Amino acid sequence: MKDEEKWLEKAQSLDAADPLREWRDQFYFPQKDGEDLIYLCGNSLGLQPKSVEKFVQQELEDWKKHGVEGHFEGKNAWYYYHHFLEEAAARLVGADKKEVVVMNSLTVNLHLLMISFYRPEGQRKKILIESPAFPSDQYAVDSHAKLHGFYADDVVVEMFPREGEETIRTEDILQQITDLGDELALVMIGGVNYYTGQFFELEKITAAAHAVGAFAGFDLAHAAGNVPLELHDWGVDFAVWCSYKYLNSGPGGTSGAFVHERHGNNPDLVRLAGWWGNDEKTRFQMPRKFIPQEGAAGWQISNAQVFSMAPHMASLEIFDEVGMPALRAKSLKLTGFLEEMLDAVNAEAGNQRFKIITPRDSHHRGCQLSILVDGGGKQVFEALTADGIVADWREPNVIRLAPVPLYNKFEEAFRFVRILSEC
Ligand SMILES: *Cc1c(COP(=O)(O)O)cnc(C)c1O
Repeated sequence: MKDEEKWLEKAQSLDAADPLREWRDQFYFPQKDGEDLIYLCGNSLGLQPKSVEKFVQQELEDWKKHGVEGHFEGKNAWYYYHHFLEEAAARLVGADKKEVVVMNSLTVNLHLLMISFYRPEGQRKKILIESPAFPSDQYAVDSHAKLHGFYADDVVVEMFPREGEETIRTEDILQQITDLGDELALVMIGGVNYYTGQFFELEKITAAAHAVGAFAGFDLAHAAGNVPLELHDWGVDFAVWCSYKYLNSGPGGTSGAFVHERHGNNPDLVRLAGWWGNDEKTRFQMPRKFIPQEGAAGWQISNAQVFSMAPHMASLEIFDEVGMPALRAKSLKLTGFLEEMLDAVNAEAGNQRFKIITPRDSHHRGCQLSILVDGGGKQVFEALTADGIVADWREPNVIRLAPVPLYNKFEEAFRFVRILSEC
């Protein structure tokens, strides 16, 4: 790497000026030989906030002390547990608190909301998704096609980048929606694509879907806690996200779901019901007929999974304190700095070493950069791992890097690029 000293100085001065630099101390970093690893994998599993232990301990204590009475006597009464998360979760995605609920896990919530929002009728039966979509999303939409008696290939329409391009142009998405017209029932795409890191223009896509009479729902697994979201104002019909990637709430952690307020109290929407979605005032009277709670909470089925929601409560407290605007501001700088250094070392090698396939325009990405390494990519990845980098490999030839603004440093981005340039 040329100009190593200069890059290092720049990284150190950016760290010194970073208003979020102290948040790093609130997380545990995996180590090797007593040194923190360079963790660029927060897009896959976020690091553990030190405060999680206290939140989980609280629930263990309440269970120990109160037994069943913990539902009402506990510090965070379990009967109302989801309420303790809704305001912070709503702020994260730009929603009203009645529009969000924390429950289940991500793909389960996607299925529950597709039950309500994929209601094919007559010729309106197509689902538009992006390619490559995360496998779980592909399986989910295919299975809903089957549920309604269709062949998935007949109703699931995939959108691809143009020949020679890596990401999908917004104009092409909007055109495809218009072309599908009254055959389109639902647009369901990943808000930030897991593979390329492309942040889709959700507001425009939602408006285009509505213009042809379709619903728009998004999987925000890679978007929540990463990019600014205004789900309510954008008019999005529904969305789901997980809590364990950028939201640092632990493996297999709980999920968030959004249902726009114009649908939240619509009794005509079909849903799979369970007692926890029932009105809280009559829930324990065990009424024969289901009376849904207002808003997204009415999609709950089972009682709150307190032990996966407690770490999420710890994490949401951090996000609330930091705030998405400050996180995004640092994210733009940190990812931009990594990109600048990657471009510099690639230029030294005649731009032959790798290619950044994530959009270059920062409005169209979060903090992830995906680099395509043709030939020997897996060996490069293994060498990085041996040198203390935790990144993420995706077949056939992509290394995904996520410098997370909450806990990564500019100097780590520098050290990563220096190691990469030596691989
Ligand atoms: C991570 C991820 C999932 C994972 O789903 P789970 O149900 O939480 O296992 C699903 N979809 C997308 C787009 C993801 O990135």
